[in-house]
Order: sequence, then C-alpha cells, then structure tokens
Amino acid sequence: MAIERVTDTSLHEDDTEEKAVEFSLRPTTFDEYIGQPRIKTTLKLAIDAAKKRGDSLDHVLLHGPPGLGKTTMAGVIAHEMNANFRITSGPSVEKPGDLASILTNLTDGDVLFIDEIHRLRRVVEEVLYSAMEDYKLDIIIGKGPASRSVRLDLPHFTLIGATTQAGSLAQPFRDRFGQQFRLEYYTPGDIQKIIERSASLLGTKIEAEAAKMLAERSRLTPRIANRLLKRVRDYADVNGDGIIDMKSTKAALEMLEIDELGLDPADRNMLELIIDNYGDKPVGLNTIASLTGDEASTIEDFYEPYLMQLGMIERTKRGRVVTMKARQHLGKL
Ligand code: ADP
Repeated sequence: MAIERVTDTSLHEDDTEEKAVEFSLRPTTFDEYIGQPRIKTTLKLAIDAAKKRGDSLDHVLLHGPPGLGKTTMAGVIAHEMNANFRITSGPSVEKPGDLASILTNLTDGDVLFIDEIHRLRRVVEEVLYSAMEDYKLDIIIGKGPASRSVRLDLPHFTLIGATTQAGSLAQPFRDRFGQQFRLEYYTPGDIQKIIERSASLLGTKIEAEAAKMLAERSRLTPRIANRLLKRVRDYADVNGDGIIDMKSTKAALEMLEIDELGLDPADRNMLELIIDNYGDKPVGLNTIASLTGDEASTIEDFYEPYLMQLGMIERTKRGRVVTMKARQHLGKL
C-alpha cells in the first residue's frame, strides 16, 4: 500500500487550494527567485542579448527532480522577456494536430512551456523538430492520393521544456534545445529564505530558528518547504497564537513523522523493506516498486533523487543498494 505523503514532491493537481497557494507563492522575477545562481546568471545574459537583438530566446531545457522550481523558472523567463507564457504538458498533447493548433496560435516572442516533456509521444515530438529549428510546421492536408504536404511559417517562439528524466529524451530532440540546465537541490540557507518569504506572503509570523528547522527537514526542495510551512501554520493556528515558533514546529513535524533528515514514513518504510528483504544486495527498480506498492516511476522521480542526494541509496549497474549511512540512520546495522 502506498502511503499518503506530505513530502511528496508532486503538485496535487486535484487540490484547488494547494494550487492556488502555490500559484500565489511563485516568484515572477529573477530577483524574487531564490537560489540556482549559475542558471540565473547564464539566463539573464541570454535574455539581455536576445532583447537587444529584438529576437526570441533560444529554446531552453530544464531538468531535475520535481518541486525544484522548473515551472517557476519558465514563468520568470517569460516575464523577463515581456512575453506571453503558454503552458501545456507532455501527456496532454495527444496528437500532432493538438500540437499544430497550439503552435499556430502563438505570436512572435511567446514562451511555450511543456512540462513533463519526456512524456510527449514520438509522433508529436517529431512535429516539434522543424518548429524548433526553422519555425516551420509541415502538415498534410487531405487524405489518400489527393493529400499534399504544406509547410506553414510559425511565429518565432521560445520552447521551454521541463523534465525529471533528461536521459529519456531522444538525442535529436535534446540537441534542439540551445540551452540546457540541471536544477540543483537548494542549500538549507536558501530554503530558509524561501520559507521566510512564503510566510511573509501568507501573512504568518515565523521565528528564524523555526524557519531554520523547517528548512532542514524540507528535502532541500521549495515545494516541500512551502507545504510543510502551511502544515505548521495550521498547527500553530489551532494549537497556539498563530506564530510559528520552535514549539509548534517541533510538534507539527513530530505529528507528520518527519525526521531530522526530512525523511517521512514512506521513505523509511521503503529503505527498511529493502534491507529486510535484500540486505546489502542490489535490487531492481521494479522489485522495489512491488515491495512498496508504488509505480516504478514514483520511486524514480519522488523517493530516489533525495535519498541519493543524502547518500542513502546508490545506483549500481545491477540495481539500487541501500548504504551504511541509511542503516545507521534507521538503526539497522
Ligand atoms: P517544478 O516545476 O520543478 O516541479 P515548481 O516551479 O512548480 O517546481 O515549484 C514549486 C513551488 O516551489 C512553486 O510554487 C514556488 O512557490 C516554489 N519555488 C520553486 N522555486 C523557488 C525559488 N527559487 N524561490 C522561491 N520559491 C520557489
């Protein structure tokens, strides 16, 4: 059975309150966007140059684990380019015709953001090749012997793709992105800044010490930091005077069973299952998925990146191995 997780890094699409809060906390400019200094510096330069030339920005590929700020970064780029921001996602573009209609409705300079771009179907992806390279769209009109191919001009748009799995994009597709960036996990100090900024936007007072503790348990991920902040705020509202201090923070984290490294019951459960069943032998992804009752892609996208960052899991050619550090943390030596 999969466990419902507060530290799940995906956006809960069906939770309208969460979506609204997330939207309201999203930075819109580079100055508001905390962290990722290397990416910001490179992009700022590219944006200034494109603006000077009166040209659109080269296509951008953003990759990295969920919740690190890829969508937010795409929105900032559009804002800084003074461009319209159009959003879609890999799974929602079903047919080449769907993509053709999105592309023909763009105007010069628009930023088109495709989330989960690795999930585009191959036939749809191939339509993007000439669109990205030459701003041309090849479409077939009519059926059978009377059909003919027509080449349409497209506006000069910028495609921003986001993916958790850059490795699963076909090489010719990847090559068409002039700029590719891997988003890194944030430092605890930057996460603390994000928490303090979000608290102030939500109109909640938080003590610096409490913000620091929350930051340490947020898996170095802004989405989780914001989600934990909201849970602790609820706790402080109900059980205290609404100010987030150490007492309410500790109590709320204890209630959520999030430990000092930010691991939750689902992480610990997964590590324990591997240790109990396989010891220190390598285990395949699908085996882990069947142990925990999750999809393999959930393990790969949501559990694993942070556990690997912590050095609790290692990927080897023969499978995943739980490290000594994880055994020590769980007291399973
Ligand atoms: P991704 O697209 O990588 O899954 P998002 O861009 O949706 O992640 O980010 C999740 C949330 O985290 C956003 O709503 C935003 O509030 C917050 N966030 C992300 N990056 C930053 C940042 N650098 N500074 C402040 N808040 C951020």
